[in-house]
Amino acid sequence: MPLSQRPCDQCGTTYTATRSTSRYCGAACRSAAARERRAAASAGPEQAVVEPAGADEPRRTAVEQMVRKQLDDAHRTDTVDGQSALALAIRIDERQDSGSGLASLVNALRATLSLALTGVALPTEDEQPPATGDPIIDLQERRERRRGTS
Ligand SMILES: [Zn+2]
Repeated sequence: MPLSQRPCDQCGTTYTATRSTSRYCGAACRSAAARERRAAASAGPEQAVVEPAGADEPRRTAVEQMVRKQLDDAHRTDTVDGQSALALAIRIDERQDSGSGLASLVNALRATLSLALTGVALPTEDEQPPATGDPIIDLQERRERRRGTS
């Protein structure tokens, strides 16, 4: 499929779409649009929190939401590492990668998020065995455990 020029759904800037499903010029606009969708969705009364099964974009922003919350809590969203972690999270949420590619993304996200949240490199990621087998959930649990001891 040839590359095509199209306007970004969020900011209107014309950019080169590398995928036919591409809608935004970059991660910033994609996350901004997702944020606005969530804000709009939560504006109404008694909005169901549960995402409908079989929706077109199931759990698409799940990882990004978690990462953004952690970064916001730590006031690290507006850092290079914070934005890098968000970009990785969005990429994971897109489910464009699978197998080892996805695993690499998850590992990169874990490392980047750790950097963003601590400002210093962690000695190793292998200190604790995964508790759930879900690296993102494990990451969040480790984070909460760390917070609980301080
Ligand atoms: Zn844009």
